[in-house]
Amino acid sequence: MNDLHVHTKFSCDSEAEMKDYMEAAIQKGLHTVCFTDHVDLNPNDYGYNYYNSSAFFEEYLLLKQRYHAQTEVLAGIEFGEPHLYPDELKQLVMRPYDYVIGSIHWIGDMFPCQKVREQYSAKEFYTLYWIEVLKAVRCGGFDSLGHIDFPKRYYGEIYYEEPIMNEIFKTLLEKDMVIEINTSSLRKGHEQTMPGKELLQIYKDNGGKYITIGSDAHEVKDLATDYEIAKQISCELGLQEIIYRNRKRMIKVEE
Ligand SMILES: [Zn+2]
Ligand SMILES: [Zn+2]
Repeated sequence: MNDLHVHTKFSCDSEAEMKDYMEAAIQKGLHTVCFTDHVDLNPNDYGYNYYNSSAFFEEYLLLKQRYHAQTEVLAGIEFGEPHLYPDELKQLVMRPYDYVIGSIHWIGDMFPCQKVREQYSAKEFYTLYWIEVLKAVRCGGFDSLGHIDFPKRYYGEIYYEEPIMNEIFKTLLEKDMVIEINTSSLRKGHEQTMPGKELLQIYKDNGGKYITIGSDAHEVKDLATDYEIAKQISCELGLQEIIYRNRKRMIKVEE
């Protein structure tokens, strides 16, 4: 089991301690945990400018020393709207991160909160959202695209048109990036992982081979939850789970 999407107290919306995750990881028998705290540079975001990379690495390096014989621990970030802050992203990843998730949470100053949901139908919102995702993928600079159908968490449904999905996946694969299977939607009562089988199949049809798996835990109890479900979906579709070390794809995790 691996969990490549984990938030700690270095994210504005989590209070979880890294060492508590590591203890839980050992108990659950995890092979690899990657901490991916939010880096949000959108002034509308609650976590705007919250992340402190130096403070993160200071604690992370101590932890790595202490736990690496039992469970592999990696350093990552979840960078919001990477296409809008490419210089900041480049600057930040000069630090020794293993893995960078690129996520779209905002369309300008719009988040899929209740007020926005009252104004925009799912179709209207998703249409704007996919354009934003395509811009991010064209810009690149990250390893894995986070929770690709993110509005599903709030709208509870998905809307897409195949041509733009094909364009997103083709561009992503050209840039040697992958997508993640994020299991947090299952904890929120949705039926599908993010993405579900439908989009994963389109990814595969465009030549996608690899995926990463992450719980998006913000609390220790959620570490690696529903990993088996994500793993099973990927196996059924013939997609292979990978991890990243030192920004490089590791196809055989045990290596
Ligand atoms: Zn996210
Ligand atoms: Zn996250």
